Amino acid sequence: MREVVIVGGGIVGLLSAFELTKREIPATVIDESEGGLASWAGGGILSPLYAWRYSDAMNRLTFDAMARYRGLFSELVGRCLEWSDLHQGGLWVHVDTKEMNTVKDWAGKWGVLSETLSGSDLLPSFPFSEGVFFPDLGNVRNPRLLKALRSYLASRGVSFIRDKVVSLLPRQKGAALETQNGLVLNAENVIVCAGVGSSKLLSMLGVSLPMFPVKGEMLLYHLTPGRVPSVMLTQSGYLIPRADGAVLVGSTLIRGDCTTYPTVSGRYQLEAVAANLLPELASRTPAHHWAGVRPGSEVDYPYIGAVPGCNGVFAAAGHYRNGLVSAPATAELLVQMMCGERPNIDPAPYSLSPGLRSRSSFFNR
Ligand SMILES: Cc1cc2nc3c(=O)[nH]c(=O)nc-3n(C[C@H](O)[C@H](O)[C@H](O)COP(=O)(O)OP(=O)(O)OC[C@H]3O[C@@H](n4cnc5c(N)ncnc54)[C@H](O)[C@@H]3O)c2cc1C
Repeated sequence: MREVVIVGGGIVGLLSAFELTKREIPATVIDESEGGLASWAGGGILSPLYAWRYSDAMNRLTFDAMARYRGLFSELVGRCLEWSDLHQGGLWVHVDTKEMNTVKDWAGKWGVLSETLSGSDLLPSFPFSEGVFFPDLGNVRNPRLLKALRSYLASRGVSFIRDKVVSLLPRQKGAALETQNGLVLNAENVIVCAGVGSSKLLSMLGVSLPMFPVKGEMLLYHLTPGRVPSVMLTQSGYLIPRADGAVLVGSTLIRGDCTTYPTVSGRYQLEAVAANLLPELASRTPAHHWAGVRPGSEVDYPYIGAVPGCNGVFAAAGHYRNGLVSAPATAELLVQMMCGERPNIDPAPYSLSPGLRSRSSFFNR
């Protein structure tokens, strides 16, 4: 295959480039920013929040992706990334009794190790008791992962262009792209994975997807390493520990807002969450406060596949709160389809063609 032009250099775009380099296919990544609108800002929890409430399509993608994270790290460790950035401290989730059986069924179905455990057994003073601990789930330090990926890809010949794609028109094969700085490219193979920007780009290709921005803010505190032993998730918010003692507190959800500046109200909201989940944080000042924009979609799993009516153009978008946990599988599925390989998982549910998406029988077997 000739060169692939990737619009969007968030986690989905970078991992798509990674999959292409594995197949020795040249790639160029065009992005107006560095680090993604969402990808650098996310918490990096390697599980959907309350995963049993999600469709099989989302769970299948995330389990396929989680199994790939160790392999990905073995390629990247040493490039601003350490094994401890893939934190396997586990995930504790506050679950009330009514939902406990659903959780057990879900864990059995997907083969996830789980144990019923009180939150305060893991983190003394934690105010929620009833819950389930998943020792094999955890989190990834996403900003470092993005840096390591960019460094790896550059060393493998992937080109990076810092610019905004303002026009995307279908051609007989591929698409014609034009950027804000006047660059014009006729590309035979294109991937659109521009996060929340994807819907505008895809509409230029005649495809309308029900996507919307969902702003999310986070705080970071510095504590001693190990103070928070695992991700602690409740309905009101979560704590995410990093190996160096940093603890992230998240997150706000503001639908329809695509600004990336942190707000005073977001800070108040998250400081209250922090003080509630870990009372010692009430007297501390957060070291960082930031915001990102999630690529929201009306369904609980992303769009991945060929863009209808556009030969050679593919897209992966709408990962909402689960782009980091599902990106390795998204990228592999996308590139497998692009290259005409047999996909690891049935692509039908993720199709951009509404007919195919709803008709999938694979997951109903
Ligand atoms: C606060 C917060 C917490 C989160 N926590 C988690 C979590 O714990 N676990 C998890 O799995 N997920 C989490 N997420 C969600 C996750 O970050 C996203 O689903 C994921 O990063 C989406 O990746 P992406 O590559 O599709 O989009 P993005 O990261 O947004 O990347 C898209 C890129 O496209 C570029 N772009 C857009 N339009 C154009 C254009 N016209 N021309 C050129 N470039 C363009 C943008 O600049 C951007 O860099 C969180 C998100 C937020 C905001």
